[in-house]
Amino acid sequence: MTTLNDQGLLKSASYWQGAWHPAAEHFAVTNPANGDVIAKVANASPADAEQAVTAAAAAFAGWSALPGAERASMLMRWHQLMLQHQDDLGLILTLEQGKPLAEAKGEIAYGASYLQWFAEEAKRVYGDTIPAQANNQRIVVLKQPVGVVAAITPWNFPNAMIARKAAAALAAGCTFVVKPAQQTPLSALAMAELAQRAGIPAGVFNVVVSTDAAGIGNVLTQDKRVAKFSFTGSTKIGKQLAKQCADSVKRVSMELGGNAPFIVFADANLDAAVSGLMASKFRNAGQTCVCTNRVLVQQSVLAAFTAKLQQAMTNLTLGDGTTAGVNIGPLISDDACNKVDELVRAAVKQGAQLHCGGERQSLNSLFYLPTVITNVTSNMTLAQEEIFGPVVAIQCFSDEAQAISLANATEYGLAAYFYSRDIGRVWRVAEALQFGMVGVNEGIISNAAAPFGGVKQSGYGREGSQYGLNDYLDIKYLCFGGLDN
Ligand code: ADP
Repeated sequence: MTTLNDQGLLKSASYWQGAWHPAAEHFAVTNPANGDVIAKVANASPADAEQAVTAAAAAFAGWSALPGAERASMLMRWHQLMLQHQDDLGLILTLEQGKPLAEAKGEIAYGASYLQWFAEEAKRVYGDTIPAQANNQRIVVLKQPVGVVAAITPWNFPNAMIARKAAAALAAGCTFVVKPAQQTPLSALAMAELAQRAGIPAGVFNVVVSTDAAGIGNVLTQDKRVAKFSFTGSTKIGKQLAKQCADSVKRVSMELGGNAPFIVFADANLDAAVSGLMASKFRNAGQTCVCTNRVLVQQSVLAAFTAKLQQAMTNLTLGDGTTAGVNIGPLISDDACNKVDELVRAAVKQGAQLHCGGERQSLNSLFYLPTVITNVTSNMTLAQEEIFGPVVAIQCFSDEAQAISLANATEYGLAAYFYSRDIGRVWRVAEALQFGMVGVNEGIISNAAAPFGGVKQSGYGREGSQYGLNDYLDIKYLCFGGLDN
């Protein structure tokens, strides 16, 4: 791999109980831009995952007993170290995940912002007093950490999806075990290295890297010492893991797939809508769960909007994320490319019109050309499933009621976006959209101060914001009686 400023950030084994653990077998981490092997990483087993849980369980008493302010200082140190090593962490991320370096560094800053946010929140785990119904009683509510938290995270944000969960969990006083996606273990391990340097005690933050997702997943969802399970990934796997958690009645947070509509009303500022769409659609080559999946454009501005969009897309440069000027990297795998290609071809077969793209850049490459198709209809598979690629699929609508009904016609409910300058419409549509997050004249909505999460089959639980801590806290009610004696 290209030389890092701090070679110590490149780790190749799982981390628990404050130590790195070799394994008999190794697996290769490859660069999706060129197929090069970047590193070989020790392949942890389910028995290793149990040891990581043991470490987290043992560390819980000490960590949860620290004053919030002390946990906060360690999280702040971790945050500072992430920013200090932003270039190296960004490079590791680009090499294993493919996104352009500027985006990768942006993800490091974004991940670090959750550490900062929850470091601040760690000091504000307020309880409550409630007026009692009898004069000789007092009601007090305490918020206490749930215990050991286990998490499974995806490859599309190898740093931030971990930071977002771990920051809230650790701030609340929980200890944490994460299994990152096998495609992107290096970013997770670099975070563990920095957690160690930040002074976070052994057993508090643990990372288990493995190709045995199901085996490790069984441990993390079924071990009774794990109190809470947090997952970000596909709806299909999320449903399965939620079922696995049911036996031990774990608290569960699920951040699953999306099918985001992006509605452009005729009264919108079309230039703003185009730049919002460019950001929401092409970030990470279209591989994010909040990426626009369906573009709904009002008939009267369809031609103008499509022309402006194609003009803006001439600024997209595909290539290896480490090359200057590149703003779209490769897709994560051959399967991912095939899936995108099949969705586009099936739509065209069913009557959609292809304006540009619609194929890989060259045979066998993982670079998929930025694509625009119009005449898309709701019955096409690409309007129903996450495309997860740089494909703009445009549907047309005639009025507000139809736009809302098309937008809501999905089992998913993560993010939605719409552009309008009519204040009455803005409120009506914002309230009618059945999604956990709505961007109103805004294409990028995620930040540490805001509650990230979905409704319907996009999941439950919230990450970030004042609400994010609640997912890691139990409410305990104390009833003080006999106060008249
Ligand atoms: P994606 O299609 O984006 O890879 P997945 O839901 O398959 O989404 O993967 C998200 C995370 O879930 C990854 O860390 C992956 O290794 C993990 N995962 C996949 N299958 C399972 C499983 N059967 N049990 C536990 N974890 C799994």
